[in-house]
Amino acid sequence: MNKNKESKGNKVKANFHMHTIFCDGKDHPEAYVMAAIARGFEAIGFSAHSPISLRENGRPLFNNGNMRASILDLYFAEIARLKEKYADRIEIYAGLEIDYLATDNQQRIKEYVARADYTIGSVHFIYDEQSGKYYSIDGSAEHVAQTFAEVGRGDNRECARAYYNDLVKVIRECRPNIVGHLDVIKKQNKNNLYFDEREDWYRRLIDGVLFEVVQAGTIVEVNTGGMLRGYIKEVYPSPMILKECLRREIPIVLSSDAHQAQDINGYFAETVELLRDIGFTKQKTLRNGRWIDEVF
Ligand SMILES: [Zn+2]
Ligand SMILES: [Zn+2]
Repeated sequence: MNKNKESKGNKVKANFHMHTIFCDGKDHPEAYVMAAIARGFEAIGFSAHSPISLRENGRPLFNNGNMRASILDLYFAEIARLKEKYADRIEIYAGLEIDYLATDNQQRIKEYVARADYTIGSVHFIYDEQSGKYYSIDGSAEHVAQTFAEVGRGDNRECARAYYNDLVKVIRECRPNIVGHLDVIKKQNKNNLYFDEREDWYRRLIDGVLFEVVQAGTIVEVNTGGMLRGYIKEVYPSPMILKECLRREIPIVLSSDAHQAQDINGYFAETVELLRDIGFTKQKTLRNGRWIDEVF
């Protein structure tokens, strides 16, 4: 990426969606802290994929890069160490990205949530009630094709309903501060391969989700991660959904879902432009442990 473009006009100096070597990221948390300080950031938050409890033959049911429960203490201890070490230069928060799985041990998830400074609620695997199986919604083209075929059973709308149904559940059950990559279901939907987001049935699904978001007082994440990794050419969620968020006065937070330190503000400058074009003037950010408005 063009370095000049990255820094020019970039008013957002925070990122609360970052993955490190504690889950599926490449760099140590301290590398992110250094990168953030170098770029003039004022606050950052780590969001390791929460451990999952579902097991098959004694092993985790998925390998989604989740943090192992056995290193949870180490994770919080390391972030606490960095918080203290860099206290005079940047605010650092220990968050979690809850990888919601409908049949997982929800009690354990509540325990994780209680330990974190903040949480992002995300769905990466949809639970198909009929077969009792999980299917990837943000995986490879091949995996997502299988998901639409098997969960949709000939009707892609059913697959979208199953996804948004689980997303509503994570909002209701886990009460995350932030809802992560809200329409990640479009990741492999190039050329409307599976659905057209402009159609009424899809807009109604989104309406239902945003209703829940308002009820729960959740922040909607504007996530550049799909662009950073070259899957899609726009942010999650789509401008169509962002316009609805603005109309309903739903707060937003910009993040890059960084998996390496150099990506902490990838596509931020362009996305701030997009958000301004839509009509947004501010986002949420954590300061002194509270979510406050930050004008951009
Ligand atoms: Zn995610
Ligand atoms: Zn993530």
